[in-house]
Amino acid sequence: MRYVYGPVPSWRLGKSLGVDPVSTPIRTCSFDCVYCQLGPAIEPLTERQVFVEANDLDFQLKEFKDVQADTVTFSGMAEPTLALNLAKLVKVTKRNLPHIPVAILTNSSLISRKDVQNDLSFFDIVIAKLDASNDETFTRMNRPRFPITINEIVESLGVFKEHFPGSFRIQMMFLKENQHLAKEMAALARSLSPDLVYLNTPLRPCEVTPLSKETMNDIATAFEGMKVSNVYNTLPPAVDPVNHRETLRRRPPKK
Ligand code: SF4
Repeated sequence: MRYVYGPVPSWRLGKSLGVDPVSTPIRTCSFDCVYCQLGPAIEPLTERQVFVEANDLDFQLKEFKDVQADTVTFSGMAEPTLALNLAKLVKVTKRNLPHIPVAILTNSSLISRKDVQNDLSFFDIVIAKLDASNDETFTRMNRPRFPITINEIVESLGVFKEHFPGSFRIQMMFLKENQHLAKEMAALARSLSPDLVYLNTPLRPCEVTPLSKETMNDIATAFEGMKVSNVYNTLPPAVDPVNHRETLRRRPPKK
């Protein structure tokens, strides 16, 4: 099994070398988002476990020591904070690629756990998902696999952010279900003082229709005063992945 893939062209992070700390054959997640692009099959999971041994990741990263990348990003076929040995994995990554900042894309579901907050503190960039401002829309869009509320997530993100020395960023996915909540979601983002807010709509193959560029530009006006990156207004760089099959499995091409 390969745990390292790409580099991929990321609209958020430039040339991004992917590390998948869970690397299961099908999506393994604590959410079941309606817009997930990783296929319909899901292994629901809310408890942390060790999936990838740090020694094995160490071995695979040696192959990438000369890689040209802007970031190394923990993401892939699952929610990366489900990896119980996340801190070990990020330390191994930094030892192998000390010149590249290490980022993580998390769905924020486990952020209230102190061990998760501690593991995330080793990253240079944390990008946390927040797709709703109320529980009804949260449940409809993210379909969490355990009882959890938006308030719990926002409060825990605030606690984490207070002590995190790196770049703290929020990612918001917009669909027709939540486009009317742009102002409320902007207020939530503002309350967390992120370094950057990514405004996204699903442009990769999935079960839902993305919002138009015009609608996304309208939504962006609610975020005035904050640093924002809009998926429609960002050009990803051209890159050539080292391993195409492993990359496509985790990163289907755009529609
Ligand atoms: S959190 Fe990410 S991996 Fe999990 S279901 Fe949602 S989009 Fe898919």
